[in-house]
Amino acid sequence: MISVVFSVLFVSFLLLTLVFQFWLASRHIRHILSNRVAVPAQFAEKISLASHKKAADYTIAKTKLGVVMLMVNAVVLLGFTLFGGLQWLSVHLVKLTGPGMGYQISLLATFALISGVLEFPFTYYSQFVLEEKFGFNKMTLGLFFRDMAVNALLACVLGLPLVWVILTLMEKAGSLWWLYAWAFFIAFQMLIMMIFPVVIAPLFNKFWPLDNAEVRERIENLSKRVNFALKGIFVMDGSKRSGHGNAYFSGFGGAKRIVFYDTLLERLAPNEIEAVLAHELGHFKLKHIIKRMAVMFALSLGFMAMLGFFKDQVWFYTGLGVDPMLLAQNDAMAMILFMLALPVFTFVFSPLGAITSRKHEFEADAFAARHTNAADLITALVKMYDDNSSTLTPDPLHSAFYDSHPSASVRINHLLAAQ
Ligand SMILES: [Zn+2]
Repeated sequence: MISVVFSVLFVSFLLLTLVFQFWLASRHIRHILSNRVAVPAQFAEKISLASHKKAADYTIAKTKLGVVMLMVNAVVLLGFTLFGGLQWLSVHLVKLTGPGMGYQISLLATFALISGVLEFPFTYYSQFVLEEKFGFNKMTLGLFFRDMAVNALLACVLGLPLVWVILTLMEKAGSLWWLYAWAFFIAFQMLIMMIFPVVIAPLFNKFWPLDNAEVRERIENLSKRVNFALKGIFVMDGSKRSGHGNAYFSGFGGAKRIVFYDTLLERLAPNEIEAVLAHELGHFKLKHIIKRMAVMFALSLGFMAMLGFFKDQVWFYTGLGVDPMLLAQNDAMAMILFMLALPVFTFVFSPLGAITSRKHEFEADAFAARHTNAADLITALVKMYDDNSSTLTPDPLHSAFYDSHPSASVRINHLLAAQ
């Protein structure tokens, strides 16, 4: 009985979420279309009409692709669960492997492989049709498949030991397994964050120290002003894959560094680079990175505890279309079902993350305005929005729900007020 209730809840949440997401997407598209004819007054001198129209068309194309993906993902999700995909997979795998750890690992691996194959057409289309059409794709097919192979290898080298340890704890560590698994998971995450800039990122890109003399001097002065011992500022060959430009902060402890895409660096003047860097330093100085990590750790503890509860409930399996096995461990199956079902129920909370992120962006902008020049950050932002064809006129509700960064005009108004 409870299993039927759970199935009904699952499908209802899935449908409600889908309808809501479609509605947001259609609002977004309508809003952009109705603003497509003219550049907003605030940007009229800085952005051409052609460029504004391109940004509108690009954003609409991406939103439409997103809608198709939502539909396909929902069908795949139902296929795996209520239509019996996982059940079928599990029954056939256990015949091949027997009921031990081999079965559990191969269930997770096969599930990941099938998901990857189903996702492939979208990844391909997005890169070689959509991005290509708007002039952003710089990737060759060779590089595309090389990236895929490296990612698969990383998933094996890093992912398999991780799930092996967690599955072993689930099986053998008693009722508090989720606490130990969480501690291990956090240690693992910290290790990945530490090795990411020096081991993982270089598998995909080249990095070299930023060496422009004028920029260097500005950066050194800025670091002194904000009292930050800046060690690594790197340039990355982002142009190898995409025309989009960006800057980001990565690593922690001794390995923390700021990375500029070469595509962005080419377009910005030294004073603008300084302002963007000040924004990134703001994230660090205002402890945004630590706060984000603390939230992530707390959430993962909650999710592990929930998984600990659900994995022992028969209705959790049967409600999602799977008969738990009597003679084999069901832990890997519980993990998969949990990962599939969780987003359906937590979608309503997604604006909370976006709100916090936008608050941090405002704070980092204000920090940059205090320590450098707000006008420099504004011109840098306009160039970044323009070059990336980010729409200047998103639907406000769509933006409130999804966007990790405030829309250009809101952000610039804040900066103007700070001047
Ligand atoms: Zn930021």
